[in-house]
Amino acid sequence: MALIVQKFGGTSVGSVEKIKAVAERVITQYQKGHKMVIVLSAMSGETDRLTGLANAMQKRPDTREMDALLSTGEQVTVALFAMACMEAGYKAVSLLGDQVSIHTDNVHTKARIKNIDSDVIHNHLNEGKIVTIAGFQGVDDDGNITTLGRGGSDTTAVALAAALQADMCEIFTDVEGVYTTDPNICDKARKIDRISYDEMLELASLGAKVLDIRSVGLAKRYNVPVHVRSTFTENIGTWVVEEDKIMESILVSGITYNKNEARITIKKVPDQPGTAAKIFLPISDANILVDMIIQNTRDGHMTDMTFTVMRSDYDRTLEIVEKLAAEIGADSITGDKHIAKVSVVGVGMRNHSGIASTMFHILSKEGINVEMVSTSEIKVSCIIDEKYTELAVRALHDAFALDRDNLPSEENN
Ligand code: ASP
Ligand code: MG
Repeated sequence: MALIVQKFGGTSVGSVEKIKAVAERVITQYQKGHKMVIVLSAMSGETDRLTGLANAMQKRPDTREMDALLSTGEQVTVALFAMACMEAGYKAVSLLGDQVSIHTDNVHTKARIKNIDSDVIHNHLNEGKIVTIAGFQGVDDDGNITTLGRGGSDTTAVALAAALQADMCEIFTDVEGVYTTDPNICDKARKIDRISYDEMLELASLGAKVLDIRSVGLAKRYNVPVHVRSTFTENIGTWVVEEDKIMESILVSGITYNKNEARITIKKVPDQPGTAAKIFLPISDANILVDMIIQNTRDGHMTDMTFTVMRSDYDRTLEIVEKLAAEIGADSITGDKHIAKVSVVGVGMRNHSGIASTMFHILSKEGINVEMVSTSEIKVSCIIDEKYTELAVRALHDAFALDRDNLPSEENN
């Protein structure tokens, strides 16, 4: 007998029929003797709908009231789910964030979980109930309802699995698992069977949207095995787990791309102490996140400084930099909104050299220019012209043989 936390996303509970189907699926597990804790999202589209209502009411909606409003989406699905279980003849109870309690800080609309009282849940489980818990919400020290930020139900599920010391946390969604790359642009994309927390963190931060990144960080910290799988099939999905020897021998496990960034270049700034600080302090003061930074080698006493920001921050950043240009003595400023970041990720890179050069070679064979590069222990990212994104992803996917079951052969070891 196991204690299993399962989370179902908005598309899995998008209608009364779908909620009934989820209840049936949960009951099948319950009948095997497992203790079931079910975290639900709001019905698909509901959180957007509520956000729209708030925006129609107040120019910048009060964040406390926003949380009171947004949390209702999940309240609906858990109550309906509990009813579905009862209708099928089983005992069930729904719990909201403050009924559990899921304690958070008081940062409305992006609160962080501080701790969870698991007693109430255990009591209900011991009475033989299926327990369903509203995702995405909590309560602060003063009793205010808080929410965890969009996509936060994944985090609720992993945090509950950690608090309850569950045997596993299963995240049910509308895809079969985590893929080697985006199946929408590469038809050879393959479902990954097992992936490490660190790789998943990179993939999530680079734009693979199956799992909310905060939940992956939490899963790593508490060593919660996470199984991402489809609500609509019985197939095994992807296990996100601690790194093992087999993973280490796979050089590249996934390829991602991201079209959310833009590039800015400041031409010919004085190459002297303080220049970089003068440029990047005002940008960070404006809460703009800078991703890659490249400073060219010196040409006389001058250098070029190139960096990327979120595309949505491009205009604001350009304004800030243009104001600075005179003060720092820059020659000119150029920028490009139409770039893409393509990345290869794999824990095997830690012990192997040559991934970056292989990547450059593959891109060059396709006639794709690499504009910027950044690397981490388990990732190489290249900035390229946006219009070559799909070509780059497919070429890299082929070259690193990700379409094949890339379990290591003896000679690779
Ligand atoms: N319902 C919330 C959202 O749409 C939380 C979640 O689904 O994870 O962002
Ligand atoms: Mg989600």
